[in-house]
Amino acid sequence: MSDYVERVLDIVKTKNSAQTEFIQACESVLHSIAPVVDSDPKYEKAGLLERLTEPERVVIFRIPWVDDAGKVQVNRGYRVQFSSAIGPFKGGLRFHPSVYIGIMKFLAFEQIFKNSLTGLPIGGAKGGADFDPHGKSDGEIMRFCQSFMLELYRHIGPSLDVPAGDIGVGGREIGYLYGMYKRITGQFNNGVLTGKGPEFGGSLIRPEATGYGAVYYAEEMLKHFGDTFEGKKVTLSGYGNVTWGVCKKLLGSGAIVQTISGRDGYVYDPNGIGTEEKVDYIYNMRVSGKGKLADYASKFGAEFHPGEKPWGVAADVVMPCATQNEVNLEDAKKIVDGGCQYFVECANMPATNAAQDYLLKAIRGVGPAKAANAGGVAVSGLEMSQNALRYSWTAEKVDNMLRDIMVNIYKNSEEAAEEYGFGYNLVAGADIAGFKKVANAMLAQGLI
Ligand code: GLU
Repeated sequence: MSDYVERVLDIVKTKNSAQTEFIQACESVLHSIAPVVDSDPKYEKAGLLERLTEPERVVIFRIPWVDDAGKVQVNRGYRVQFSSAIGPFKGGLRFHPSVYIGIMKFLAFEQIFKNSLTGLPIGGAKGGADFDPHGKSDGEIMRFCQSFMLELYRHIGPSLDVPAGDIGVGGREIGYLYGMYKRITGQFNNGVLTGKGPEFGGSLIRPEATGYGAVYYAEEMLKHFGDTFEGKKVTLSGYGNVTWGVCKKLLGSGAIVQTISGRDGYVYDPNGIGTEEKVDYIYNMRVSGKGKLADYASKFGAEFHPGEKPWGVAADVVMPCATQNEVNLEDAKKIVDGGCQYFVECANMPATNAAQDYLLKAIRGVGPAKAANAGGVAVSGLEMSQNALRYSWTAEKVDNMLRDIMVNIYKNSEEAAEEYGFGYNLVAGADIAGFKKVANAMLAQGLI
């Protein structure tokens, strides 16, 4: 690897010492793109990597709100506007107690390359708060969202920054956030948030898009090896929006979806999560906020394994859908021992770098998150287009566009990896393909 990449990684580590997830993401991407950067001195001359690893802007703010007991609560809010090289900032909002600057920056950094891969003109951002929606009443969620927007509205706009959902932020939260935005500004402003309800400008298929997109991407990987989902045992983690979308798309594919998981353990369903009733049950578990995995197990005659992750279950395809670093090196070894050949990342950075490297060497294919889970933000981009057109496309049209985008992401990643000597390494390929477009845009726009 080049001295330049090493030097920039040293700077990143020194400047962001406690931000472990951000350092992890930078190490992974910079290692992949080293051959591109080494191929031409123009990148170093333009300080491209130093600029790429420093966000354009970070906003950190106070969110005061009153809980149901009348007590004042204070959370910390964030918006990391990492790169607007190819379009307005775009990325989700996460409400989770683990949120801190290191997680916000890794997510925003990943979003730059993911959004570039979609082929749409959208830059990279992420935001959120260290707020735990778990166990909060509907009124508390609304007041929190309203207070959050009372600050965020200054920093967003249809050609400036367009937030969406992520963990802890779904349709209900986007509704409350958007309502407050509209109240403050008095403007529709092309929707300004994506993931809205279909009644007020939301795109059809947006709720399903991340899961559907991941399955379309996985199908391309399988096809590369002359394979299909028919008869494949599939392990999923999580039980949120992404897990649900994957389950829904795999209905009727012949795949046997055998696990879902939560903070308290995992469910093993030997018959497979293969009926609409089961898929709807998962959806309602999340939306009601009251669902328990153990209830799924007793209702459908499945096993509940408290306190465990699903990685020890033998599977052909593993699709982590929950959160960052949910698969470590030990887990990766179990996954390989269980016979897995395809690892498709549906959550953002679900594997540690050591786990991902191990899997890359041991199995047929690893689909990295920034490619495999780009379907969500891609349909968010399509929602922006529909809002600008003052028009709504049919579910079928959006779904077809989503599939085309995912197939292109796969192809571009495969070709980029091949071109730079990485063979069938879709992780490196996605980083390279995403990077080249952003880098060219930065070079074209001068030192800004
Ligand atoms: N949070 C999602 C992601 O990780 C979606 C972002 C968006 O739609 O803007 O890509």
